[in-house]
Amino acid sequence: MKIYNSIVETIGNTPIVRLNKLGKGLPGTFLAKVEYFNPGNSTKDRMALKMVEDAEKAGILKPGGTIIEGTSGNTGMGLALAAVAKGYKCIFTMADKQSQEKINILRAVGAEVIVCPTNVEPDDPRSYYSVARKLNKEIPNSIYPNQYDNPSNAQAHYESTGPEIWDQTDGTITHYIATVGTGGSMCGTAKYLKEKNKNIISVGIDTYGSVFKKYKETGIFDENEIYPYLTEGFGEDILPKNVNFDLIDTFVKVTDKDGAIMTRRLAKEEGLFVGWSCGSVMHGALEYAKDNMKKGDIYVLLLPDHGTRYLAKVYNDQWMRDHGFLDSRSFGTARDIIQ
Ligand code: PMP
Repeated sequence: MKIYNSIVETIGNTPIVRLNKLGKGLPGTFLAKVEYFNPGNSTKDRMALKMVEDAEKAGILKPGGTIIEGTSGNTGMGLALAAVAKGYKCIFTMADKQSQEKINILRAVGAEVIVCPTNVEPDDPRSYYSVARKLNKEIPNSIYPNQYDNPSNAQAHYESTGPEIWDQTDGTITHYIATVGTGGSMCGTAKYLKEKNKNIISVGIDTYGSVFKKYKETGIFDENEIYPYLTEGFGEDILPKNVNFDLIDTFVKVTDKDGAIMTRRLAKEEGLFVGWSCGSVMHGALEYAKDNMKKGDIYVLLLPDHGTRYLAKVYNDQWMRDHGFLDSRSFGTARDIIQ
């Protein structure tokens, strides 16, 4: 009998599942590391726990303390679970483009959530980065883990996600493909995998409206690359310290629409009821594979979170139509088709 002492002990050791339909006809294998099996339903549980434990070890998080973070929801969930297990308070600042579900979930696990405007500069006092920093200064005994620049973030993936993928594939992985937001799940994992086998290629998935791909290719931080987009959780208008461009061999950009359509295909064709960025990873991996995949290649895709948080968006036909994302009536209901 194995009994966990608290929910946070169940973080990690997520399964890898073979993709049987998407990618058919291509010469290699596509495998999905399904991160929604974490207790907070996302890959961010790993780094959230690590940031809290490292802050405790460093003596900067003390009993009764408050954890303050700017989060698109998943990091907040991980931090909230760690806070419940260890007796801390949580306050999260969040951009107003995020799903209402994500806000509700965080409040359900006891966190306070402050919603901030999306379309302001990061250093604007109203941005969710600035509000988090200000609260941290004002509230005594509070910490601001800052997932963007906190090395515990990438380190969590170096210590868990990387070794798991290496072991689960018996070291046969040839390509690692993941979205890049803070950079933790891409760079921590890629660092471990490349140390094991320097020939493993890492492909970062970026979104239109984000600076990463252009920065990798030219070394220029081009503000013209920054414009609003809908996909949640990855792509940035800043260069987080957790993004180590030396560990990312190439970037593929994916549109909101392509990501959304592929998310629905992962659910319908593979039974993987996953979040929007997972469709972006899948779409980007297929684009990259079309030109690069060789016989025997093993692509491992990190699928960050679960579909429930996107029921009102990519899994809602009307929302998809309103955004011009549904081309085919066959995605609709029987009633739509009869009309
Ligand atoms: N997808 C989703 C849904 C996320 O919440 C995140 C985390 N911001 C990412 C992708 C990107 O992961 P990372 O921060 O490790 O780069």
